[in-house]
Amino acid sequence: MKKIITLHLLLLVTSMQIFAGGQKRKVLVIGIDGTRADALVQANTPNLDSLVAKGLSTFDAWHIDITVSGPSWSSIMCGVYHNKHGVTGNSYSNSNYNTYPYFPTRAKELKPNLKCIQYTEWAPMSDNVYNDGWDLKLKGPDGATTTTGTAAVAQIQDPDVDVLFTYFDAVDLTGHSSGFNPNNAAYILAIEGVDTEIGKMMTALRARPTYDQEDWLILVTTDHGGIGTGHGGNTITERRIWWIGASDRATVSSIPAKADPGSYNKTPFNVDTAIQHQSPVQADIAATAIHHLAYSPTFRPENQAAWALDGRSWLCEMGLCNEKLVGIKENTLDENRISVYPNPTSGKFNISVSSDLNVQSISVRVLDQMGRIVFEGENLSKNSSFDLSNNQRGIYFMEVKTQNKVTVKKIVVN
Ligand SMILES: [Zn+2]
Repeated sequence: MKKIITLHLLLLVTSMQIFAGGQKRKVLVIGIDGTRADALVQANTPNLDSLVAKGLSTFDAWHIDITVSGPSWSSIMCGVYHNKHGVTGNSYSNSNYNTYPYFPTRAKELKPNLKCIQYTEWAPMSDNVYNDGWDLKLKGPDGATTTTGTAAVAQIQDPDVDVLFTYFDAVDLTGHSSGFNPNNAAYILAIEGVDTEIGKMMTALRARPTYDQEDWLILVTTDHGGIGTGHGGNTITERRIWWIGASDRATVSSIPAKADPGSYNKTPFNVDTAIQHQSPVQADIAATAIHHLAYSPTFRPENQAAWALDGRSWLCEMGLCNEKLVGIKENTLDENRISVYPNPTSGKFNISVSSDLNVQSISVRVLDQMGRIVFEGENLSKNSSFDLSNNQRGIYFMEVKTQNKVTVKKIVVN
């Protein structure tokens, strides 16, 4: 039996129930250089704490490469380790970013129009890196935490920004001058200073006029710990790092300590990649960021053979792998077996699911171009009729779901 539904009557009800219909996915990466996990845990960091309360985190992650900034930030941004990206020191000599670029370059292979911005304090990270995908590369004075926070807030206010990477160096500089140590009050204070700026950045992010139509993933990590006034070796306090992935719609979880996967900082390399993938590591920042930016149910960055990523995505563990994004065609359900007609339509149209598809009923959502849900219905007949004639003319996306498979149909109302 055909079912006629007048969509505009249901609009109010459905829009109240759904949190996130097809927002534009964006990424903020915050790097805090040289921050020991045990010191971060001890410091008073309400803003980082609230990110931890909104996602996936670990304070027992392993550094598995050279515990120096150049190679570590390259691993974080490229999603591969130094045997691929080539960077073994802070001169960035022998870099191989043409083969293993920064993640914005990879994301743009799938979404060319992303606007990507970097603001760093430490010049080599800006001057010595190429093929990084930044549309705007900004740098400020080294260790100037509040200057960096202010600059980051300004970039967050850019209506078009899709990816922002902000980098703070003061914690590492303090470690070098007076000790990487949770008992060093200056070191703790430097961490707390960065946390204050992160608070300002998050306030600015949520104040974006378009925030409700956006889906921001926030990734925060460090490049290495430290011992005494240095780092570069393989002691636990140099290798113990932390990793936070947060979103206002993420599932909250914390990953306990896992076995040591080994390190690329020793020859021969002895990294166990199966153990490595049990807990977030540095290369996972790039993989998770790309996954979010170019999300579709069938896409995983680590499965792109040509990219040869060492990192894996944690997006699904964060609860952010769903079909709420529109504009990406999903072919997990054979779309040729679902017909929408007439299309284009003046408003009224029909869906018909091929009878050879063993489906009892369908769930349907219709979203407008901004990703707002204008209709949602469950347990509908395989042959249903719809009416969008009271909605604005334009392009709509209809998600048709059967069991756990989904396809998206574009509908033109004119
Ligand atoms: Zn350092």
